[in-house]
Amino acid sequence: MTALRGRLRESVPMARYTTCRVVGPAEWLYEPADAADLGAFVASDTAARPFFWLGLGSNLLIRDGGLRGSVIRLHRGLAAITDLGNGRVQVDAGVACAKLARWCGQRGYGEAAFLAGIPGTVGGALAMNAGAWGGETWAQVESVTTVDQHGEQHQRSAADYDIGYRDVSGAPDEWFTGAIFAFPSGGDPQALQAHLRELLAERARTQPTGIASGGSVFRNPPGDHAARLIESAGLKGVREGGAWVSEKHANFIVHRGEASASDIEALITRIQQQVETTHGVRLTPEVRIVGEEVASGH
Ligand SMILES: Cc1cc2nc3c(=O)[nH]c(=O)nc-3n(C[C@H](O)[C@H](O)[C@H](O)COP(=O)(O)OP(=O)(O)OC[C@H]3O[C@@H](n4cnc5c(N)ncnc54)[C@H](O)[C@@H]3O)c2cc1C
Repeated sequence: MTALRGRLRESVPMARYTTCRVVGPAEWLYEPADAADLGAFVASDTAARPFFWLGLGSNLLIRDGGLRGSVIRLHRGLAAITDLGNGRVQVDAGVACAKLARWCGQRGYGEAAFLAGIPGTVGGALAMNAGAWGGETWAQVESVTTVDQHGEQHQRSAADYDIGYRDVSGAPDEWFTGAIFAFPSGGDPQALQAHLRELLAERARTQPTGIASGGSVFRNPPGDHAARLIESAGLKGVREGGAWVSEKHANFIVHRGEASASDIEALITRIQQQVETTHGVRLTPEVRIVGEEVASGH
């Protein structure tokens, strides 16, 4: 068996690995050294199943009972960006989207600017078809690399996937290890840096920053905005335990470290019920709720 070179830890509280900052633990957490090491881990008897793939945890609510099996975090080991020329960029799945946006901005690849607003990894952006300011991840993807549950690597083209709004399907039981993006080249790097700064300042004006949250809680229903529906149902500022609906942006649930996952989940349910009663619209969570309930309750 190939010797594993990554970092394996048992019973790891996940608060510092998710932007929601709640404490449900991972039974095992593995951070592979690189793509080959990732394949070796997945294929090994050391790896407890099931697997859960973690980016920067910016779209996740891990329940208080935590995640069974192996959580695989790519951010440390799968971190390379390679310029293939003419706007083609090969990126490992663990790279932070904001880093890729800055890197592309310096080379004049302006279509990558939207990635600056996504506080996750490239792997998470591929899994979610993350988007902002009119840009979407898969609009720029040429091909992806994946690993399957036996540790085998695959290369797939964008055409192998069905892509929708925050929704990606195709190649089940495979997870992203990287992508080749094809960005139109020829932008002015200085103008792009200034544009990025403006976009981020606009975001800081309209969304809560410096406080724990999982980003937009609900998907926007067709032709409307979840935030508008929540606000007009009178839910801004409403609390469950330590969590509350942000006063700045009603589609964010925030807390200052005192909320449990069950507080946040209870608030999600309450918002769904209230919005349905007021507007007749059932909101669907965008944030992914995973893991086990605590048996004794909260
Ligand atoms: C303040 C804030 C602002 C946000 N703004 C936006 C925005 O403007 N637009 C937007 O689209 N999103 C936004 N988000 C949500 C989030 O950043 C995106 O969904 C992001 O793509 C998640 O990436 P991640 O690496 O953090 O994934 P995680 O949250 O770690 O995981 C999300 C899902 O992707 C899966 N996944 C992760 N990595 C892989 C992989 N390598 N292979 C297969 N599956 C994988 C996970 O299993 C999980 O199901 C925001 C979040 C926050 C906290």
